Amino acid sequence: MPKPLKVALVGIGKIAVDQHVPAIAASGDWHLAATVSRKGTVDGVPAYTDIAAMLAAHPEVSVVSLCLPPVPRFEAAAAALRAGRHVMLEKPPGATLAEVHALDAIARQAGLTLYTTWHSRMAKAVAAAKLWLSDKQVTGGRVTWREDVRRWHPGQHWVAEPGGMGVMDPGINALSILTDILPEPLRLTGADLDFPANWQTPIAARLTFAGGIAADFDWRQDGPQTWDIEIATNAGGMALRHGGNELWLGGSAQAGDASIMGEYPALYARMAELVRQGGSEVDLSPMVLVADALTLGRRSPVPPFEF
Ligand code: NAP
Repeated sequence: MPKPLKVALVGIGKIAVDQHVPAIAASGDWHLAATVSRKGTVDGVPAYTDIAAMLAAHPEVSVVSLCLPPVPRFEAAAAALRAGRHVMLEKPPGATLAEVHALDAIARQAGLTLYTTWHSRMAKAVAAAKLWLSDKQVTGGRVTWREDVRRWHPGQHWVAEPGGMGVMDPGINALSILTDILPEPLRLTGADLDFPANWQTPIAARLTFAGGIAADFDWRQDGPQTWDIEIATNAGGMALRHGGNELWLGGSAQAGDASIMGEYPALYARMAELVRQGGSEVDLSPMVLVADALTLGRRSPVPPFEF
């Protein structure tokens, strides 16, 4: 077995603690060598509050994995690449498309790996859904991504600030699955966006796409939480439920289960493969659709929303 890759985690918040740290700890491919965060730390791991100081102190760290919100992410990613380290980006990979293109250019020039991760694409039933759809003609589809921001993002006020994406932050997970499984590229044709009076980002969005596909994203859902994708084809319908973790055909579950716990181990396995092969994976297609929705969207004001 090759020697574990030494990784530094930057931005020790909810997703770093819930998913990245356990996925790294459980893998023989990885060793968590340092963290960078103003307040967050991981027991037993050297902690820094400044990325430049971490990079200088840890030349053995070959990979930097960024779990910051999208807006502060670019500077940290560029610093890591300029210091000769491979970089793994949480979703969405940046606050703007141009900054991810810039990171891609730096990585290419330096011969480094850049991986724009989309954790929902690693959900258990996504590959099976993609295979099932590969020889079908899609005739329509409906995405329902309705969750409670107060439950899943308590105190994470960056989601309501410019660049935080609002409900597109979870919605982009659905778009990452759709852009992966559909046999044809997805093209946005319209969007209705609800902006709370005290938010800079939408709290709900209804999107339409060419080919009869529609999406309903809402962050005000206080009943059942729903992360479903239903696709109609010339050979019948299929549904992906629980965020891509269960495939349903003809009304019964075919593959997967309701747990999301395999997604981050799969992302780190893919990153290890990319680094060892000297490759990169940079796919902005889900983020292009979000940018298009914000460009084309009709905006409606809705009452202030505190969380
Ligand atoms: P979070 O809990 O707010 O953590 C982000 C961490 O980044 C903070 O704890 C903070 O740590 C650091 N940070 C540095 N600059 C910051 C700034 N300007 N504003 C806010 N935090 C800053 O966020 P998260 O939920 O982990 O999300 C991080 C990324 O992961 C996002 O892109 C999100 O879309 C993605 N993600 C989240 C989830 C989820 O369920 N939460 C799931 C999948 C992916 P210090 O204060 O210690 O510096």
